[in-house]
This record gives sequence, structure tokens and C-alpha cells, in this order.
Amino acid sequence: MLSYEDALKIILTDVRPPATQTVSPSNALGHIAAEKIVGTENVPPFHNSAMDGYAVKSEAVHGANLNDPVILKVDGSTMAGDSPSKGGSGAWEIMTGAPVPDAYDAVIRVEDTLILEKNNQDRPTKISVMAEGFPGKNVRKAGTDFCPGDILLEKGDQITPHHIMALAALGQYNIPVSVAPKAAVISTGKELVDDIDQALLPGQIRNSNTPYLVQSLTSYGITATNEGTIFDEPEKFEQKIQDVLSKDIQIILSSGAVSMGRYDFVPDGLKNMGAEILFHKAAIRPGKPIVFARFPNGTAYFGLPGNPIASAVGLRFFAYPLIRKMRGMDPESHTTAILKNTFSKESLFRFFQKAHCYHDDDGRLIVDILPGQESFKIKPMLKQNCWAVVPEYGLSLDAGSMVDIYPLYPDLGIGGF
Ligand code: AMP
Ligand code: MG
Repeated sequence: MLSYEDALKIILTDVRPPATQTVSPSNALGHIAAEKIVGTENVPPFHNSAMDGYAVKSEAVHGANLNDPVILKVDGSTMAGDSPSKGGSGAWEIMTGAPVPDAYDAVIRVEDTLILEKNNQDRPTKISVMAEGFPGKNVRKAGTDFCPGDILLEKGDQITPHHIMALAALGQYNIPVSVAPKAAVISTGKELVDDIDQALLPGQIRNSNTPYLVQSLTSYGITATNEGTIFDEPEKFEQKIQDVLSKDIQIILSSGAVSMGRYDFVPDGLKNMGAEILFHKAAIRPGKPIVFARFPNGTAYFGLPGNPIASAVGLRFFAYPLIRKMRGMDPESHTTAILKNTFSKESLFRFFQKAHCYHDDDGRLIVDILPGQESFKIKPMLKQNCWAVVPEYGLSLDAGSMVDIYPLYPDLGIGGF
């Protein structure tokens, strides 16, 4: 059976590079940089004061202290937002962020001065300086944060609020980002009830996959539409696919109807609609019957098995890698943790397990593979804060072994990693 790695290779083959658009910093959150962004400005743009106080010539207050203050006349005042002034021969009142006049090379904070005289507008005209100055004291030099040529974003970086502060500070108002693919979600199953106000009849269950898939994609920055439920009628499925293919959708995800049952019509329906089935089944648990197909127009199709955890694994470990590539992102990296309890599995498949990780008293990252790994069991997800991925080889892992762990969603730091 096809290994996970080979399945991923198939999914990631022939992916078109993303189209690009430009966004401003206020709309950039979560977008993926389509190019390297290099700053062209100095930040700060001018020498400015780090303190409220008095700009001075440092040599004029050399050695000043509480017992031996230096008396200076005050020649003027600059507040933040004022244009730079030349200054004078004595001291100059200055506020935090105001440009330091050319004549001075240091700022003495207001707490280290005393006003000796004021004019009739209540402005200081003579001060006593009780702390010494040195060149550069309390002066934030132009370009000491950013200077032209600094890299703000590498191509493929996902833009966070941290980047946004830098982009805004540097006046980067047109940021080239990739256009994210849009997704459609379809559920299948005659047993499903979508209407939350409807009581369940015998044999019915509530549809949990559609809300999960749509909201997971949304939280990952992907516009995902709920295309409704097919109550196991193949003709309706084909009509639905026809309808979705006519929209601006690049990825379709369905849940259910991909196994060996009499009503597992998705693979045949896809073929009837002209899709090429690139694989059906992979050597994984849960979610073995997963289908991946492509339509002639390039639309990718993930036929996820209906069991809720099989669907979640299909989204997390098959669809998200494609979405990352379609957005121009690098493949995700992962970390490892120490397995808490011995783990055994019944086949040489790759196992994607609901897991909880935490730091022990010695600061080591421990992972606990949770009880209740059956693919219909949703409750362990409430305790889950990561996925543990157990490789194909071997049927057991001893407590204390290193296990690969992945955050619930790519790039979402969890459990302190
Ligand atoms: P299937 O893959 O269609 O054979 O479905 C496998 C199992 O998942 C069955 O027990 C279904 O009832 C269940 N299932 C299918 N679709 C959903 C869904 N959207 N929400 C919750 N459970 C589902
Ligand atoms: Mg079904």
C-alpha cells in the first residue's frame, strides 16, 4: 500500500506557483510573503531623545553630579513632532521622541535636573544639571533600529503582528503576498443531520465533519465554503461537483463514501466527472481509505473518510501540506518529545495519534498518546494539544523513546514548542 511519504509526493507534484496580490500592513495578517521584502528607510529616521529632559553638549556637563552640579541656561524647547532645530549654546528642553538639535550630543533626563529660573510662559530658562553626560547618552541615533537593506520578510514567511509592526514602521504599504487557495467542503452520508434544531431519529447522527473542516480551514486563513451534504445519492454528488467546479475553488474536501461499502460512491463519481484518481488508500491510521484526485482544470480533490478523526488526519497531514505549497510556503517542520507510556500498534502503517504534550519538572517535553484512538472518538480531542506521529516500522515503541509531534494546526505553537 502507498506510504504516507509517497502519497505526499503525489499531492505535492505539479503544484502551480501562487498568484500574487498586494496588501497594506493593516490587511497583511496571516498572509504569505510572495517576495523577500527589504527595507529602504532608516528607523529611527532622525536622532531623537530617549528621555524627557534637556539636550546638552556632553563636554559641558562632564563630571556633573549631585554635589557638583553644572548650571546651564536653557535656549529653547523641542517636543515630539516638531521639526529639528539647530539648538543653542546652553541646554535645550526636549521630550521623548523629539529630534535632538544639531548642537547637542547627549540628553540629561529631567529627573537629574532642577529648574532654577523660568520665564513668564512658565518655561525653564536656567537649570542645574546633576548628572554627567557622555556623547550619545539618551540619544537614539538615526538608523540604529533599521537601516536601508534590512530584510523584513523572506519569501514564504507568514506575516504575524510582529512583522506588521516593522512593516508599518518602515512605511511598507504595498506588501506582495500570495493569493490563498479557496476550499469547498462537502459531507456525504444519509445518516447525517445538519440542522442543529432537528432531533435525531433512530439511525441518524449529527454532522460534525463539516463544521470542523470549514472552521479549521478558516482558522488557517483559507476561505472555505460549506457546500452541504449529499445524502448518499451519487447523481446529486455529481451535480454538486459540477456546481463547485464552476466556482473559484481550488481545493474540494469531502468526507465519507470512500471505503468499501455499497454506498461509497465518491471514487466512481470523481472518475465520471473527469477527475484523475491519483491515489486511493494510504498506509496510515486512521484514515486509510483516503482518496486524492485532480480535475482537468487543476482543482484538487481530497476524499476524506467519514470517521471524524480520519477526516481530521486527512485535513491535517494531506490537505494542509498542499495548501502550504499552493501558498508558496516551505514544508512545515516538527519537533520531537519523549514518549510517556509504551505504545503498540497492530500494523506497519504510519499512525497519527491524538496526544497531549507537556513539560515535566526537569523541563523535558513529554508526549502522552491519549486513550481512545478509535477514529470515531471525538472526546480525546478535547484533551489533545498535539499529534504524535508514529512511523511505519516496528509494532511498538518503548516509554522514553523519541516521538515526532506536530501542532494541531501547522505553525500553531502548542505545549511550549
Ligand atoms: P463513511 O466513510 O462514509 O463510511 O463513514 C464512516 C463513519 O463516519 C460512519 O460511521 C459515518 O456515520 C461517520 N461519518 C460520516 N460522515 C460524517 C460526518 N460528516 N460527521 C460525523 N460523522 C460522519
Ligand atoms: Mg457514508
